[in-house]
Amino acid sequence: MERVLITGAAGFLGSHLCDRFLKEGFEVIGMDNLITGDLKNIEHLFPNEHFTFYNHDVSNFIHIPGKLDYIVHFASPASPIDYLKIPIQTLKVGSLGTHNCLGLAREKNARIIVASTSEVYGDPLVHPQTESYWGHVNPVGPRGVYDEAKRFQEAITMAYHTYHGVETRIVRIFNTYGPRMRLNDGRVLPAFIGQAIRGEDLTVFGDGSQTRSFCYVDDLVEGIYRLLMSDYAQPVNVGNPDEITILDFAKEIIKLTGTDQKIVYNPLPTDDPKQRRPDITLAQSILGWEPKVHRSEGLKITYDYFKSLTTEELNKVEHKNFEKYSH
Ligand code: UDP
Repeated sequence: MERVLITGAAGFLGSHLCDRFLKEGFEVIGMDNLITGDLKNIEHLFPNEHFTFYNHDVSNFIHIPGKLDYIVHFASPASPIDYLKIPIQTLKVGSLGTHNCLGLAREKNARIIVASTSEVYGDPLVHPQTESYWGHVNPVGPRGVYDEAKRFQEAITMAYHTYHGVETRIVRIFNTYGPRMRLNDGRVLPAFIGQAIRGEDLTVFGDGSQTRSFCYVDDLVEGIYRLLMSDYAQPVNVGNPDEITILDFAKEIIKLTGTDQKIVYNPLPTDDPKQRRPDITLAQSILGWEPKVHRSEGLKITYDYFKSLTTEELNKVEHKNFEKYSH
């Protein structure tokens, strides 16, 4: 059996990737330090004899006994409010964590894919964003800790590819949604759905004219899998180009949930990108990939997931022990 290490395995994307690789017949080693991940996302995998879990912070040296064929490096806080709370850890996992994963890939002669992001484009001046655009990032703003860590990640990944001949892949992920997102991670979709279910007003930041393009998680996982199996080492955008303003998105959620919640306007966070839409021409041509799930369908599945949570889970105030990880 081929063996794959998935970092960030207990997170939203990491857990879906574990499911996919197990389905493809791999032996999966999941790794997570559970700062933002949750064991609940992978507890269904523990009885599987082809799944092993290590509670480990990839910013520290990684030891995996035996062979490894692939590494899927997805460990990182991923929501703006998380990386505001743990900025240094965010920088460390993107830089030191990636360095450790690349060193492991070299040692094991494994192919590695790293999770990059549309945030490498910052508040983009080119629209839609193509891979050849170098971005518009404020390095010292609140988002800089994530954006620059991911930009460093791309640079060190290319360096390992060029100087050490490591087989590397870089996926630039755009906004993704689906079951297992953390209800209270601050991102717009769980925020709006949570508010609608609890009967609260929906909080649109700014005037809501900023845009995002939301990709359903199964489509994203398919794109990632295809890229890993391809022979293309340059960065590739994977996302859904179906762009919508945040205000229209709030209205869609109100309609979907059948509630009559009001929309309230809160201040726009610093450096919040005004527009975002992937140009996926490259993914279409080299991977034969494009998203299949329409937002109406994906949102319904996601809403059903959130509705299935208990009232206790829905109202839970998060007590994540971020203090412990502040350096
Ligand atoms: N947003 C919002 N209300 C919320 C949470 C987020 O209007 O309760 C906005 C946020 O300002 C941004 C967009 O929704 O313009 C997407 O935010 P998110 O944190 O999900 O991800 P981002 O794409 O900014 O990383």
